[in-house]
This record gives sequence, C-alpha cells and structure tokens, in this order.
Amino acid sequence: MAHQWQGVIEEYREWLPVDEHTPVITLGEGGTPLVHSAWLSGLVSGDVWLKVEGDNPTGSFKDRGMTLAISAAAGEGAKAVVCASTGNTSASMTAYAARAGLTPIVLVPHGRIAAGKMAQTVMHGAQVIQVRGGFDECLQISRELAEQYPVELVNSVNPMRLQGQKTAAFEIIDALGRAPDVHVLPVGNAGNISAYWIGFKQYEKGGLAERTPQMWGFQAAGAAPLVLGKPIADPETIASAIRIGNPASWLLAETARDDSGGRIAAVSDEQILAAQRELSSREGVFVEPASATGVAGLLAAVESGDVEPGLTITVTVTGHGLKDIDTALSGIDSIVDSVIDVDVREAAAIAGLA
Ligand SMILES: *Cc1c(COP(=O)(O)O)cnc(C)c1O
Repeated sequence: MAHQWQGVIEEYREWLPVDEHTPVITLGEGGTPLVHSAWLSGLVSGDVWLKVEGDNPTGSFKDRGMTLAISAAAGEGAKAVVCASTGNTSASMTAYAARAGLTPIVLVPHGRIAAGKMAQTVMHGAQVIQVRGGFDECLQISRELAEQYPVELVNSVNPMRLQGQKTAAFEIIDALGRAPDVHVLPVGNAGNISAYWIGFKQYEKGGLAERTPQMWGFQAAGAAPLVLGKPIADPETIASAIRIGNPASWLLAETARDDSGGRIAAVSDEQILAAQRELSSREGVFVEPASATGVAGLLAAVESGDVEPGLTITVTVTGHGLKDIDTALSGIDSIVDSVIDVDVREAAAIAGLA
C-alpha cells in the first residue's frame, strides 16, 4: 500500500499535545472529504464546500477528539472513562475505549438517544446509565463521578477533545490551499466551534494561512442559549445532538464568534429538516438532523441577504444520517411507493419509463 491515512495524531503530531510516549489509540479518524456543493455555491454566488464528518470511523466528528482524549487517558494509566452524551460522544468514546482496553461508562438522557447511536454504544461494550434528565444533567453527574471516583471524564470539557477536533480546520486549509472566508457549523455544547477556531488561528499564526474565517454557528431555536444569552432549562429540538441548554464551552464559543467577526444564530426544526432533505436529495450527502443545522443557517442567511457574493464558504456537516433513521423516515409518508407483481411493464410504467 502506497499510503494509508494514519489518523489525526500521526498526521498532525507536531500540532498536538502528544509526545513519543503517548500510546496512539486510533481508528484512522480524520482525512474526511471536502465535497464541493454546486447547489449551495449557486445560491450564495460563491464557492461552498461541505466538510463531511459523517465519514469518520464512528460516523461523527467526535472521533477526532476522542483519539486524543482516550490516548491521553490510556497514557496516564486510567482504567475507566466516562462521558455524558446525546449519542455520538458515547458511540465514539466506547469504540476508542474498546481499543484501549478501558472500561466505558456512559450517561444519557433516558429514552432520548437515536437508535443507531445506542446500538453503537452497546455493541462497543459500554455500561449505559440512563438518567431522568437532559444532557446538561448527565454532564453534571459525569463531572462529579470523575471528581470523586477513579474515572477519567472525556466530554469536551477535557481539553484533549478540542485539541483533536481542531484538526478539521487544518484539513480544510490543507485541502483548499487557503482559509475559507466563512466557516459554518452547528453548535450544541459548543466544543466544536471552539476547536475549529483554535485550529484556524494556529494555522494562521504558523504561516499556513493568511487569514482566519468568520465563524458562523447555528443552534436549534428550541435549544439556543448562546443566541438568547442565557441557559435554557428544558431545551427541545428534533436535532438531538444539539439539544443542550447550558453549553460547557460557552465562553470559548463567544470568543470564537466575536474574535472572528462572526455570528451565532438560530434556525427552526423545520428549516433543519428541510436542509437535511435537500442535502440528501441534491448532493447525495445524508446527514443526521443536527448536522444539517449549519446548512439551514446558511440558507437562512442567503434568504435575508446576509451573504455577499464571491465568498469561499466551508460548512461542517457533523454526523452521518444513518445514526437516526427514525427522524429521517418520519418525514416520509410511505417508505415503499409502489408494490407490483413480477412484471417488467408495470415497473416501467410506474417508473415513468414507458
Ligand atoms: C456533538 C455534535 C454536535 C454539536 O457539537 P458541539 O461541539 O457540542 O457544539 C453537532 N452535530 C453532531 C452530529 C454532533 O455529534
């Protein structure tokens, strides 16, 4: 084999807080495609690229941070790791913990995890604890467990997570040969927007880019504490991965927004689901609802005349559509359009070929 992508630790080692003693726990994460969108480029009269993070090993960008967090935990001799999750963090943590031989403990909101994510978590061998509460309460318990018991917390409050996740910004600049003018992404617990900002700034400081992009973050309207400027007790949105009322990286996200001259705004669940469908049917990119939030936000910005022409815009679509097929299919009346006998002419007639 001429070359195989080595995962983000080996590919970006000099930019990361690792040394030669750090065990590298990897599934080959990162190196995800930057896919040009003719549809969105036309709408903004510029160039729009999708950073397709559903192509990571467990189907979301969480793997970039988890390879760092689990490698560091293993290097420090941890025996167990814990996280609160709306589903993707647990899917990722348990996969990497399995490789490292660490015991994974997962706290999730009771009954509110998409089936695909729960299947991943269970298959990787986690002890799953369902909490009668939301993500924010799960994170509170996880923090207390890590303070009081011999278990390492790997939510994005663990600085290793953001260090790993910043590599997506490096990849975007490496692929484009420049920084984008605007980078767009969904915001939930706000770790990822903070991580991208770290990455974009480091490449600029290191002379690998001449500028940093404006950071445009989008939250779901029912879970938009950063837009409202205060925590929300009962966040509600169909986009479960960003159903978070009190983001852990609140201040870092505000810094990313303000220092970059960007914005954090809200979009409705209807806008999110519409963007999800358009991405699937126009671009062949099937993402979970939360992952379409950035595209929904960009579409709203175009509509309100907030996007000047000629820009290069990158949009992170954060996780794979197969993780939450119930939500995807719930918007469709009938899965099987037509049932016929074994008859080619009938098939042709229904398909509009004859
Ligand atoms: C975690 C996650 C988000 C939100 O990222 P934050 O860092 O919490 O802001 C968005 N989409 C998907 C698919 C996720 O898994």
